[in-house]
Amino acid sequence: SDSSTVGIHDSVTDVFPAPVFRDELADAAPDVRIVSDGDALAPCDALVTFRYEDRFLSADLDWIHSIQAGVDRFPFDALRERGITLTNSTGIHGDVVGETAVGLMLAFARRLHVHRSHQERGEWHKPAWDDAFPLRRESACVVGLGTLGRGIATRASALGMDVTGVKRTPVPVDGVDRVSPPERLHEAVADARFVALAVPLTDDTEGMFSTAEFAAMRDDAYLINVARGPVVDQAALVDALDAGEIAGAGLDVFEAEPLPEDSTLWNREEVIVTPHAAGFNDEYYERVATIVRENLRRFDAGESLTNRVV
Ligand code: NAD
Repeated sequence: SDSSTVGIHDSVTDVFPAPVFRDELADAAPDVRIVSDGDALAPCDALVTFRYEDRFLSADLDWIHSIQAGVDRFPFDALRERGITLTNSTGIHGDVVGETAVGLMLAFARRLHVHRSHQERGEWHKPAWDDAFPLRRESACVVGLGTLGRGIATRASALGMDVTGVKRTPVPVDGVDRVSPPERLHEAVADARFVALAVPLTDDTEGMFSTAEFAAMRDDAYLINVARGPVVDQAALVDALDAGEIAGAGLDVFEAEPLPEDSTLWNREEVIVTPHAAGFNDEYYERVATIVRENLRRFDAGESLTNRVV
């Protein structure tokens, strides 16, 4: 880019060090600078950020890039009104989030979380003979079959699992044996040992999993949520766990993050809590930089941007 000044909002530090990302992007624009709280945004044409702040709206930016795939915290209408383009980082998390989601399934099936808890207490503890089970004979229903959903589905399928999915346009997907529309969600989840959520948080998906959905699931089923916390009604989830409507949950995302210290989700053997880190990996900054570099090129060439949301 010969014209753009690119700001890197230092909230990216939640995911990778801002200076490492700045150096990675240094060849893509003449001026790539880190913007901290209190620094003026005025010189920036484009801003790469983790967090959303209202001051972005009045800063005369052309373009904001979210280093996350989920952009539910950004005010789409207000951005549109001010002519600010918003792009996201979907497309880069399928392998790593797929590994995390299937890793959670493996932990539950092979009891790794239980072994680790006993290790912390220095206890040589064998589980009951029939606690562990082979994943190969089990089924997973993946709700949402975009980047994340496909990443989960291909990995579950590679382990020999029977994989089904829920998708708004029910066309065939690689590694997925049956695809159902959202209207048939309850039937789709009814047979699955694992239900993995991979939808964005939207008006349609907020509270998508609540009392009725947990009732529709098997009582030995595990919920895996690597999408967004509010896709699940968390109080209903706790009730379902207490009532034995489902067996457990692997949760990377929550209604409130960080998960409050007094949450009852912390201390349950059949709940694994991860700190919204399903997509974390040491290449994250390079992957985001690839998207931003390509969009800087397109921006200068007057071409339409990739990963555009607004
Ligand atoms: P994506 O856009 O590639 O895929 C989302 C898919 O969900 C699309 O195929 C879309 O058609 C589908 N969808 C939307 N509404 C639906 C509905 N009501 N029913 C069924 N399907 C529906 O995005 P992605 O990269 O796969 O990410 C998905 C979401 O996962 C993000 O929006 C983000 O919130 C979350 N995410 C979390 C992490 C993490 O670290 N935990 C990492 C990346 C993404």
